[in-house]
Amino acid sequence: MSDSSSTQSLALFGGVPVRSADRQWPTWPIFDDTERTALLEVLESGKWFYGERVAQFEREYAEFQGATHCVTCNSGTAAAEVVLQALGIGPGDEVIVPPYTFVATASSVLRVGAKPVFADVDDTWCLDPEKVAEAITPRTKAIMPVHFGGRICDMDRMNDIAAEHGIPIVEDACHAWGGRWVGKGAGTLGLCGIFSFQVSKNITAGEGGAIVTDNAELADMCRSITNCGRAVGAPWYHHVNVGTNARLTEFQGALLSCQIRRMGEQTLTRERNAAILNNALEKIAGLIPQRKSNRITRRAYHLYCLRIDADEFGCSREQFVAAANAEGWPVGAGYPLPLYAQPVFTNHPGRHGGGPCPMVENLCYRSAMWFGHEKLLATEEDMRDIIRIAEKIKSNVDTLRGWQG
Ligand SMILES: *Cc1c(COP(=O)(O)O)cnc(C)c1O
Repeated sequence: MSDSSSTQSLALFGGVPVRSADRQWPTWPIFDDTERTALLEVLESGKWFYGERVAQFEREYAEFQGATHCVTCNSGTAAAEVVLQALGIGPGDEVIVPPYTFVATASSVLRVGAKPVFADVDDTWCLDPEKVAEAITPRTKAIMPVHFGGRICDMDRMNDIAAEHGIPIVEDACHAWGGRWVGKGAGTLGLCGIFSFQVSKNITAGEGGAIVTDNAELADMCRSITNCGRAVGAPWYHHVNVGTNARLTEFQGALLSCQIRRMGEQTLTRERNAAILNNALEKIAGLIPQRKSNRITRRAYHLYCLRIDADEFGCSREQFVAAANAEGWPVGAGYPLPLYAQPVFTNHPGRHGGGPCPMVENLCYRSAMWFGHEKLLATEEDMRDIIRIAEKIKSNVDTLRGWQG
């Protein structure tokens, strides 16, 4: 232990915290006069409705992810529902999803009348390709991996399995803006990918979503569904598909075009700061960062994810989280339940399959910890604080024994 702070008593028990109360973490969202000006321009133009600003952002976002097409919509949830509908997935069909994700990954499957089938994740915190292979049935119509926290899952193995069975992959890339797998953008690795621009996300207009794909026919169908079932190029009052209104406004399009300009640099800052944490925290016995892959050539970070092995570290996750927060490191315990244990699924037992999944149960009930991407925009010195806090808890771990809050 290099720092004297690690020999002092834990802040949880009245010791001096590693970070004094005046040390702030970056807040989110980030904006400046660029957004202010762009929003006023839309306001004063009187053109508030789905037009040139949205179209411009769609071109920018397709290019940013390296896709041929981008169709925006009003949320990541809508993007998932629209894609599944566009693929013709419905009653009698199954879609394989992870149980460690935001509810929309699986609820979108229910919303089109199909059945989510939960397969376990591995130490990447993403779907385990071998568990996906085991879950495939003749009714499987899509695989929806989530690149959890921005960590792209093993898309080589996933694509092999999907190709063997002729099943499309819909990437839930709602944490992976800017992420790249062997140089290719998240969302372009399977048939298509979905993204969210909700306020907590790394690029945001408060709400918003997008679908990217290289498949023109799928893009046209998604466009039609998000725009009241109109066919591309058809007259305004001509409706050919069962659509909805999931359009963005010009205000959102303008905001997103401002936000995307900060993405390149912010992604590099997060990646650099996370690498500092990974390299130091993995050396502390009992702390396990998300598994790395050298095929991830640009790592997006929506969440910084870390597991604790309570036996090896010497205290429970709950004790660690309480101690860390008292020292000034705001880290949380993540999802309290596997998705399949949420009432929306347990109240309708016939409507989902798969599970229980041991790794997900371990993450939810014992080991997972994470904090949000905006803290990875802080300084290197702030990262050193996190490392000092982890080392301080480790060297004082005996004092946590028996503590229950
Ligand atoms: C945020 C998120 C969504 C849905 O996005 P909304 O825009 O909030 O509807 C879907 N999947 C994952 C993994 C997400 O984090």
